[in-house]
Amino acid sequence: MFKKILIANRGEIALRIIRTCKELGIKTVAVYSTADRESLHVRFADEAVCIGPPPSKDSYLNIPAIMSAVEVTAADAVHPGYGFLSENERFASICAEYGVKFIGPSPEAIAAMGDKATAKETARKAGVPVVPGSEGVLENLAQARRIASEVGYPVLLKATAGGGGKGMRVVWKPEDLEDAWNIARAEAKAAFGNDGLYLEKYIQNPRHIEVQVVGDQYGNVSHLSERDCTIQRRHQKLIEEAPSPVITPELREKIGEAAVKLAKFIRYESAGTVEFIFDQDTGEFYFMEMNTRIQVEHPVTEEIFFFDLIKEQIKVAAGVPVSGRHYFPHNLPLPRWAMEVRINAEDPYNDFRPSPGKVENFHKPGGHGVRVDSHLYAGYTIPPYYDSMVAKLIVADFSREEVINKMLRALDEFILEGPGLKTTIPILKEILQDENFRKGTYNTRFLETWRK
Ligand code: ADP
Ligand code: ADP
Ligand code: MG
Repeated sequence: MFKKILIANRGEIALRIIRTCKELGIKTVAVYSTADRESLHVRFADEAVCIGPPPSKDSYLNIPAIMSAVEVTAADAVHPGYGFLSENERFASICAEYGVKFIGPSPEAIAAMGDKATAKETARKAGVPVVPGSEGVLENLAQARRIASEVGYPVLLKATAGGGGKGMRVVWKPEDLEDAWNIARAEAKAAFGNDGLYLEKYIQNPRHIEVQVVGDQYGNVSHLSERDCTIQRRHQKLIEEAPSPVITPELREKIGEAAVKLAKFIRYESAGTVEFIFDQDTGEFYFMEMNTRIQVEHPVTEEIFFFDLIKEQIKVAAGVPVSGRHYFPHNLPLPRWAMEVRINAEDPYNDFRPSPGKVENFHKPGGHGVRVDSHLYAGYTIPPYYDSMVAKLIVADFSREEVINKMLRALDEFILEGPGLKTTIPILKEILQDENFRKGTYNTRFLETWRK
């Protein structure tokens, strides 16, 4: 087992990783930017190293600074969390060159899934269903036009380097393709430095269903069933739950097997997530992308199985095999229901504008089945430089209805106040009370079409 893990991240996920390391008796090193000096991950780690000024590119994305922190502290492994360097093939290779274990998949597996058009081709070769569309990156507008008319409108233009919900454009009719093509390319170039686009059929009544997998160093891959992340704003997840209200035991078996098949095909080791789009009109599911890291919403899976995914991720990185073909008998009903809401420092009634600032009053909800993953405390100042997600509230119970009621109760207890500070709490409460949400009948456009 590792002796000392450096956590190349910040915020709630850094804290989350430190907690598991402590339970495993592993020493921890926090790294921080000057904006995060007063952060809890700095306080709770055994050692902490400042890696630069606030902008991510100078600190949490600064590979030389992080590698020198590894050297100075003699850490024998690095946990990248999510975002930042977690899906950076070069960083994973550099760790290997330094003889320090990158707690994640191999650089080759990251590369295989990094570029989305290539990932889709890989999935197709692995025999996993993919959304009808172009094979690989489009060469030109004429090709886009031809493929679009083959698969039928509406279609979606997607940036091959896209992520975080950005770099997608729906095209409803042939006349709009040229403009969309030009805009999407310019946007992709500006946001990701890569203007490669691919095209696929736009599914009009979809659920976002993803499967949690864990692979070990011996070629075994197991899955821990699905999460439903259909409640999104601009393709970014707001509420996630497990199991999915629309997945039957038969589908669970099929979609789980598809995820495992792909992970095995790329010799995936570590925790990862295979994302699918589920067409509610046809009952078909298709591969969308694979996230080669631990995800924000991993706690909902942890709560239904009472299973620490970060612990498993660290163990497989240290060479421990995954526990059997499956973690639980997939023909049995899932043991519990769990849901997570993302609490962001944003104004939900003003186009979700970021709202950083000082936290004056802070109170976490508690009680049966309630978990809060957050780095906040009273007196902490939310810096403007990073992601606006400041807390995850996760609840678990036996049924979806109990979970929704518990979530509403917990949100009522959640106090997060400061001068001018706005959060997504009020809109989350509204969504949880929505009739269609409670019935489970909606698609990824729930928020777009809400009250319109
Ligand atoms: P998950 O599937 O784990 O919910 P997200 O897509 O929400 O993942 O991404 C997790 C975090 O990673 C985001 O909160 C964001 O900070 C970061 N991230 C991922 N992709 C990008 C991107 N292309 N640009 C900027 N940030 C990104
Ligand atoms: P990202 O890397 O930004 O997470 P994804 O490919 O995972 O991008 O897509 C994000 C979201 O966009 C999905 O959860 C879904 O809501 C929507 N989406 C993606 N592909 C399609 C599609 N073909 N049809 C309809 N919606 C889609
Ligand atoms: Mg995605």
